[in-house]
Amino acid sequence: MEQPSIRLEMNDEILKFLKGEFESSELNRLPESYGGGKIFATPLIGVAQAGDPIFQRYKEIIGPEHLTPLEMWLACGQDYNRVSSLSTISIVFPFDKQIRNESINPIESRRMIIPPEIYTIARNFGNEFKRATILKTIKFLNEKGYDATSGMLSDAYTIVLKGKFYTTWSERYIAMASGLGTLGLHEGLITELGSNIRLGSIITNAPLKFTPRKTQEPHANCLYFAKGTCKECAEKCPVNAITEKGYNKIKCNKYRMKIARKIIPPLRSKLKMETRRVNWKLKQDISIVGCELCQFGVKCTDNNPMASHHVDFFSF
Ligand code: SF4
Ligand code: SF4
Repeated sequence: MEQPSIRLEMNDEILKFLKGEFESSELNRLPESYGGGKIFATPLIGVAQAGDPIFQRYKEIIGPEHLTPLEMWLACGQDYNRVSSLSTISIVFPFDKQIRNESINPIESRRMIIPPEIYTIARNFGNEFKRATILKTIKFLNEKGYDATSGMLSDAYTIVLKGKFYTTWSERYIAMASGLGTLGLHEGLITELGSNIRLGSIITNAPLKFTPRKTQEPHANCLYFAKGTCKECAEKCPVNAITEKGYNKIKCNKYRMKIARKIIPPLRSKLKMETRRVNWKLKQDISIVGCELCQFGVKCTDNNPMASHHVDFFSF
């Protein structure tokens, strides 16, 4: 068993490596026609022990096909490791301040409200940077003599459409297990860098220090759940997918598809193509865009609004 200081050093080394990538990678840049600025600001990481019982509970909370870190490790073709020797590293990719500021005012037409073009481009281009960063971090760990893999980039990662709608590896829930934050009323993860973020993760047998979860309450960082105030995200959603009763995933996804149909055709030549699996079937050459109107110009866009409070009012 490695000394705790060795584990902490490894966390620091990974974060330092990631900060360098975020700073220098050309893939973390908007096209020149959109100003050429950074897509993501400085990252944050959190680490969970792969054997944490929370991962088993995710099968009930998210869906039965959601994999534990050990299941995903094996599905990625890695050799068997004792679960106690594995960890998940979650990475927060926070959108840059310029993108957050310029995305506050959506484009409103008679029929619908859509995100500003700069956000559509940033989110679409940001996916390539995310993938490249995960692969480079895996290589970084391999060069240090450790095995590492990515659930999101594996063939085992798929959207599951079986009555419910979920993925086999939820980056939000992995990040929550890794002590990076809790869910908001809008179901985004509210981290110390806000909820207007993207997430990625790696599973590895490198010795790492685990990040303690500050609370067992799954919505502790959200002002609505903690104090009964805010609800700004609900006001921002054009289709009332967020109400006091919670987040309506079906309504949200329906609108996200409507947005995609509206904004992809005129931007197709600019957008990067990606692949996606739905019910384990590969779909190639698709453009992926988002909505996230509920994440801009709200109390949790760029910070944890409950950071100065300590809440733990009911159990997860
Ligand atoms: S905008 Fe307010 S209510 Fe909505 S998730 Fe953020 S903190 Fe919670
Ligand atoms: S992503 Fe868009 S449709 Fe979904 S809840 Fe947020 S604002 Fe509403």
